[in-house]
Amino acid sequence: MASIRIHHLYKRYGKDKHAVVKDFHMDIEDKEFIVFVGPSGCGKSTTLRMIAGLEEISEGELYIGDRLVNHVPPKDRDISMVFQNYALYPNMSVFENIAFGLRMAKLPRHEIDQAVKNAARILEIESFLNRKPRHLSGGQRQRVALGRAIVRNPKLFLMDEPLSNLDAKLRVSMRMEIIKLHKNLETTFIYVTHDQVEAMTMADRIVVMKDGIIQQIDSPEQIYSTP
Ligand code: ADP
Ligand code: ADP
Repeated sequence: MASIRIHHLYKRYGKDKHAVVKDFHMDIEDKEFIVFVGPSGCGKSTTLRMIAGLEEISEGELYIGDRLVNHVPPKDRDISMVFQNYALYPNMSVFENIAFGLRMAKLPRHEIDQAVKNAARILEIESFLNRKPRHLSGGQRQRVALGRAIVRNPKLFLMDEPLSNLDAKLRVSMRMEIIKLHKNLETTFIYVTHDQVEAMTMADRIVVMKDGIIQQIDSPEQIYSTP
């Protein structure tokens, strides 16, 4: 049983209902690491945002687990999303940034403490839980953003170019961190990038997109051995 079923999704904009995502169709297995790759403007983000519930689906059905979620708001989809701009709260400590979602969900204090410490341990950011984001490096900030996403223990993890603001060296090491994180968490990941090397090194399966249409879905080995 696939954990995410994406059935013939379309996204249309404007008066002329121009489709920027056309007939996006695939099943994703539980715990798979899926990467959407393709040039800027090909519809990767829009597809991801429809899965997240940040963008309305124009046509098609989306199932997370057994549940049709077309009209389910983002906070009830059992997902977490990480963006390229870390979107941390500047006036809160790292601890408070990670705890924020759990506080909103009114979890008891000791559970919040436990969950934040656990996330911090996995991402090796325990030593700066009391600092403000402005005192952190880019890589550290992105770890905090990841911490904020994993602390909610989501069924599905969505990432939109999370590393593209980092310098080349950091990008390579964070890539490894994310692969480790995926192994550690045993959840389904969908990761958007325009970087083929990223796709190649991280994915179980790669979805190649062009002009809003899926060109190919296959393992990295298959994709990059195809002439
Ligand atoms: P990618 O993530 O692959 O760079 P996007 O999904 O961001 O591509 O965008 C796909 C296409 O949809 C682009 O041509 C973009 O300009 C267009 N688009 C995205 N959002 C909107 C919107 N709100 N209104 C109209 N067009 C949009
Ligand atoms: P990215 O390239 O990082 O995916 P964009 O810069 O394409 O993001 O889009 C930023 C925001 O602007 C998004 O909310 C997107 O929906 C919106 N947007 C993108 N293209 C258009 C467009 N042609 N018309 C209206 N809104 C757009």
